[in-house]
Amino acid sequence: MKLHEYQARDLLAQNGVATTKGRVASTPAEARAIAQELGGKVVVKAQIHAGGRGKGRLVAQSETADMYQKLTTDPENNSGKVRGDRIGGVRLADTVDEAEAAAAAILGRHLVSIQTGPEGKLVKNVLVAEQTDIAKEYSLAAIIDGMAGGPLIMASAEGGQEIEVVAHNNPEAIVRVNVNPSAGYEPYVGRTLAARLGLSGDQGDQFGKIVAGLYKTLIATDASLVEINPLAVTTDGRVVAVDAKLNIDDNALFRHKDLEALRDKDEEDPLEVKAQELGVANFIKLDGNIGCVVNGAGLAMATMDTIKLAGGEPANFLDIGTVNDPQRVVNALQVILDDPSVKAILVNIFGGMARVDIIAQGVIMAHQQMKIDVPVVMRLIGTNLAEGEKLVEESGLPLIRATELFDAARKAVQAAGAA
Ligand code: GDP
Ligand code: MN
Repeated sequence: MKLHEYQARDLLAQNGVATTKGRVASTPAEARAIAQELGGKVVVKAQIHAGGRGKGRLVAQSETADMYQKLTTDPENNSGKVRGDRIGGVRLADTVDEAEAAAAAILGRHLVSIQTGPEGKLVKNVLVAEQTDIAKEYSLAAIIDGMAGGPLIMASAEGGQEIEVVAHNNPEAIVRVNVNPSAGYEPYVGRTLAARLGLSGDQGDQFGKIVAGLYKTLIATDASLVEINPLAVTTDGRVVAVDAKLNIDDNALFRHKDLEALRDKDEEDPLEVKAQELGVANFIKLDGNIGCVVNGAGLAMATMDTIKLAGGEPANFLDIGTVNDPQRVVNALQVILDDPSVKAILVNIFGGMARVDIIAQGVIMAHQQMKIDVPVVMRLIGTNLAEGEKLVEESGLPLIRATELFDAARKAVQAAGAA
């Protein structure tokens, strides 16, 4: 689950990271009132679940694809700016009037950035925060490093830019320190990073405190990523977080009921939201036209590969998990059928602990409960196969049967093409 910047910065502040003062607003008048409280010199920032906002552009919904094209092919002449013309998602305002005008130019429009894709994202809120006089921009991030099996903290003196760009063009500019999760955070980590970025004395201490707070935030929220880019050194020598990004591991959300309230469903794919509501947790929408119902993430990946090998494109990744509950199959099919691009469905089940007959029951129940107007290819194997086969046969449903995975994929591709 992704958070908005205004939510992420609050969590960072609660864990001891130095941030600027600021609050979220949903109307220009509110933005003006906050700017007034903060003394007038503020930054007004679009709140969407995507980065690259500063260089993005605000347009009407009908113009997003055109702008995306311009930003990707000719950034030099199209990227947004923090002042002057070419309004982007981050604007510096020196008076309350300018703050109100900036909010009016951003709210209710679509922000297109390199990260939003051609659809852009509707801006419903802006963060109004104290303007920072930046002397130098750094970047700082903590992630769970799958290779190391624990937290990894990364920092760079090439702040402001996207970390992926730095990693690609100048990988040695990124300093990395792994943290042993059983020992926990130790101050040498912050000191090491500070020294390698050339921050010493008081600034080194401030930086160290921020790294400690970043780590604390990562652990406290079960985040997969916490990023501060830029982390600014101000002209008066303070070190302060100017941007914030935080992604929470969905599989840990069950133990963070308080964070669940920060979810913004408008920012998420509607099919994925529906899947979550129906308890189909492992669903990711893709661009193809063959819906997949599979048990086990590995088998789901293999099924997607096989569909591609057979010349088709999967419409989703879906792992129904190891369940013996026919309703879960019904729910999975319901999510898939909500996607108008789906032209065929491939049910590929390996009955290990899951029983094939229960899955077959689910497919039959789904046919009874809703209109399934696309061909369904079934490939079942494993525990209680005979019972499952019998149920499918007796149901008289027009299911396309396959025994081997490649044959199933080929039949699904064929059915999707014919539909
Ligand atoms: P992003 O583009 O979505 O990553 O949004 P950021 O919050 O990182 O803002 C983009 C850029 O705007 C930053 O790299 C800064 O250069 C600039 N910026 C943001 N806030 C301030 C501020 O308070 N003062 C100044 N001088 N620049 C800012
Ligand atoms: Mn940023």
